[in-house]
Amino acid sequence: MEIFETLSQLGYGELHFGRDEASGLRAIVAIHSTRLGPAIGGSRIRAYATEADAIDDVTRLAQAMTYKAAVARLPHGGGKAVLIAPPGLNTPAFGADKRTALFRAFGRFVDGLAGRYVTTEDSGTGAADMDVIRTVTKHVLGASAEKGGSGDPSPLTALGVRRGIEAVAEHVLGKPALTGLHVAVQGVGHVGAYLARELKQAGARLTITDVDPARRAALAAELGATVVEPDAILETECDILAPCALGGALTESLVPRLRCRAVAGAANNQLRTAEAGRALYARGIFYAPDYAINAGGLINVAEEFAGYDKDRAREKTLAIYDTISDIIARSRRENTPPEVIADRIAQEVVANGRA
Ligand code: NAD
Repeated sequence: MEIFETLSQLGYGELHFGRDEASGLRAIVAIHSTRLGPAIGGSRIRAYATEADAIDDVTRLAQAMTYKAAVARLPHGGGKAVLIAPPGLNTPAFGADKRTALFRAFGRFVDGLAGRYVTTEDSGTGAADMDVIRTVTKHVLGASAEKGGSGDPSPLTALGVRRGIEAVAEHVLGKPALTGLHVAVQGVGHVGAYLARELKQAGARLTITDVDPARRAALAAELGATVVEPDAILETECDILAPCALGGALTESLVPRLRCRAVAGAANNQLRTAEAGRALYARGIFYAPDYAINAGGLINVAEEFAGYDKDRAREKTLAIYDTISDIIARSRRENTPPEVIADRIAQEVVANGRA
């Protein structure tokens, strides 16, 4: 793998490798940019087939964090960490002590970066791991609400997505209110369930699904939503499709079968390929760029820098309405797909050096 070539293609930056023999730590921190402020990004832990896969993952994810922070006008850069899962992690034999030792070693590694990278939760890690990291470094966000931190980011992520949907409804569909708007939600886990409740409260009509039958049934009973099987949701006739499950839901071959007028949901990396985005644009289906509409969680956790204030985090998240409105307007003006416009905005904000 040509590491420096990869870094220069992505406009980097720094890549740091941390190893600790005693705990088995093998971690990589990518700092894509600190031009706007300290780089924030989660630490994920998973098994990687090769070290090159881990480098590929962390470098791309860190760049996406720079863009997400810039579009949300946060005074932060983008970074990310991956921990290559040691053998046996998540088995009883691994034990809590070993996990604690692993995250303490990781915390010391993060501490050595002197605040240029600030970590938080991501897939495979949680608040308990952040609490361990906090014992050795202050450069960590995502404390539980009981400890004065920002707690679960999902409610604010959902609030931001609702605001993005309002912008799409008004400026793309010509509906200034969500009353009667039909939204199909794919995945009703943490964010999807909060989003469905937000939308219901605003008067929307809901069709939902989840691969977990109990989860979707319980939410449908609570909200009076229609339930469909997971393989039917993407082709449900609706006003807005809200992917809130895993990434990559939108493929080029799916686009001709969509029966929505816009896509606006919480999932990361919804477009499997750039071609899928172009196909949506060609069909006149508006796509709300994922990292612009789902920034509520990042906005929430970033508030911990100034001393967490829930009301302020909420206030800033409401502004996702303006972010999406701007993207819609500029996409029209420049005859360019919205996800390309979002990247342009991020690049401009970083180049100006000002959030
Ligand atoms: P989650 O794991 O709590 O929820 C995902 C849900 O999707 C689960 O209920 C799962 O059963 C369901 N699911 C998985 N595959 C499915 C499929 N093929 N069809 C239907 N349902 C399926 O995760 P979450 O925290 O709610 O995050 C959802 C998405 O939003 C992820 O892509 C995540 O990266 C992104 N996101 C989350 C946050 C946050 O604050 N949690 C912030 C930004 C982005």
